[in-house]
Amino acid sequence: MRPLRFRWLRYLWAAPNTLIGITIGLLLGGRIEWVAGVAEIHGRWIAKGLRSMPVPAAAMTLGHVVLGCTLADLERTRRHERVHVRQYERWGPFFLAAYLTASLALKLMGRDAYRGNPFEIEAYAVDDPSA
Ligand SMILES: [Zn+2]
Repeated sequence: MRPLRFRWLRYLWAAPNTLIGITIGLLLGGRIEWVAGVAEIHGRWIAKGLRSMPVPAAAMTLGHVVLGCTLADLERTRRHERVHVRQYERWGPFFLAAYLTASLALKLMGRDAYRGNPFEIEAYAVDDPSA
């Protein structure tokens, strides 16, 4: 168990991404629920946005915010998305650049830019330990 007194530092480190997530969630009129220290936001316009991304998604994490198409999607993807929350806590403001750089490098090598991304491999390992 990590000491609680340093927990705020992880929130501060991830705050720029959390602010992006909160802003998108509110602009798209999503409903917010706090689940174990993470803001989960879902709604019709969020669903439209997530489903029209290059890799259509049921949910997406930005710092301590998880945007989801529906409440059911948020529940189903919770373990996976929490791995991404931990990644934001480690990488802070550099997470998105690191994630996108890994995807771009994989694409340039002709490999799967999504499932081959080390950040996704770590997250999918929680969903399916045999993956
Ligand atoms: Zn993921």
